[in-house]
This record gives sequence, C-alpha cells and structure tokens, in this order.
Amino acid sequence: MNLNDVSELFTGLLVYGGMVTAASWLAMVIWTYRDMRVRSRDKVAPLLVGFMVAVLTIPGLIIYLFLRPRETLSEAYERSLEEEALLQEIEDKPTCPGCRQRIQHDWQVCPHCHTRLKRPCAHCGRLLELSWDLCPYCASPVAGLTNERANSAPMARPAQNWKYETRRRSEIEFIDGDDIGA
Ligand SMILES: [Zn+2]
Ligand SMILES: [Zn+2]
Repeated sequence: MNLNDVSELFTGLLVYGGMVTAASWLAMVIWTYRDMRVRSRDKVAPLLVGFMVAVLTIPGLIIYLFLRPRETLSEAYERSLEEEALLQEIEDKPTCPGCRQRIQHDWQVCPHCHTRLKRPCAHCGRLLELSWDLCPYCASPVAGLTNERANSAPMARPAQNWKYETRRRSEIEFIDGDDIGA
C-alpha cells in the first residue's frame, strides 16, 4: 500500500461523506418544508422554515421541532368537526321549561321541579306534547285535562295550563265537526 493508494482512499471517503452530508441536509430541508406545509395555510411560512433549516442545519431543525404548530391542518379540521358535533349534541338535549335542567324525551314530569312535560294519550298511551290537541299516533282527540290534573304531579304553571285547556276545547270542536264527523 503506497502513499498514492492511501490518498485515493481518503479522497473517496471524503467524497462519500460529502455526498451523505449533502443528501441529509437536502432531506432535512425538504422534510421541514413539507411538514410546515401541512401545518400552516400560509404560503411563505414553509419557505421560511426551510430556509432556516438550510442555513442553521441540525440546530435549525431542532428549533423548528420546538416551535412548529402543534396540529396539522387536517387534525385541526377533524378536531373542529368533533367539537361541533359535541356542541350539537348538547344543544339537542331537551331542557325543562320550568327549571332549565336536562330532561329526557320520554319523561312526563320534570323530577327536579315537577313541571308537567308530556302527557300520555288516553287512547294509545303514547306520549304527547302538552300543546297537542290531537294524538298524532292514533288521531284521537286528547281527553279532558281536569281529571288528570287531580291525579298528576303538581303543575308549575297553572295559568298556562288553563289557557291551554280553553284553546284545546275549541280545537277539538273543530276536529269533531269537520274531520271526524264527516
Ligand atoms: Zn324542571
Ligand atoms: Zn293516541
């Protein structure tokens, strides 16, 4: 092994090392640019961080990893969808008109303040809204409220129920005369 061979080997190693370093450097810059592009809508930001990593190399990459936006754009979008769905779910939950507590769709009375929420149809037994005068399931007019009032839980809003009853009577007369009687 003469001096010439040693020098050639050394040159070869140097070239190889240089190529590996250059490829790694380029990969780092490209990775940073792409990573920033999925995290920011800004067109300039990926170029800026790519340039920073190109100049500062590994310390630049470490700084970028510390400071980059926490979520990618698709992750942020997914999270906003989830939050929206959650909010929708909260809004869809019915609340008691008397005390604003959460209630279930099939409750007849609010367990917190004893407000009447729904009443069963006297004919088919399905639950009806208080404002309905006619059962939508079996088409029978809602039976008198007076008897039920004595048996049922105390009413939180008697005035409103009284108004409801007078309105109900007039509409039942209309149904009896025009629809069911015909
Ligand atoms: Zn209530
Ligand atoms: Zn019914």
